[in-house]
Amino acid sequence: MKQRKVRVCPRCGSPHIREATSSVGGWLVPKTYYCEAEGCGYSGSVYVEVDASEVDELRHAIKSELGSE
Ligand SMILES: [Zn+2]
Repeated sequence: MKQRKVRVCPRCGSPHIREATSSVGGWLVPKTYYCEAEGCGYSGSVYVEVDASEVDELRHAIKSELGSE
């Protein structure tokens, strides 16, 4: 059975990751992804892909990691 895959931000775990289309005059450039989550501001060439059912788990894991001061 297929699981639906979701792209999430590697920094905050938000599913609001977007692909930046940055084709410069037809040149092949590395794809950039950026995060639309408030207060994150991640942008880079990588994203995390997880099963849809794991998004909450991942976000929880990231939050608890950030919260452990
Ligand atoms: Zn983010």
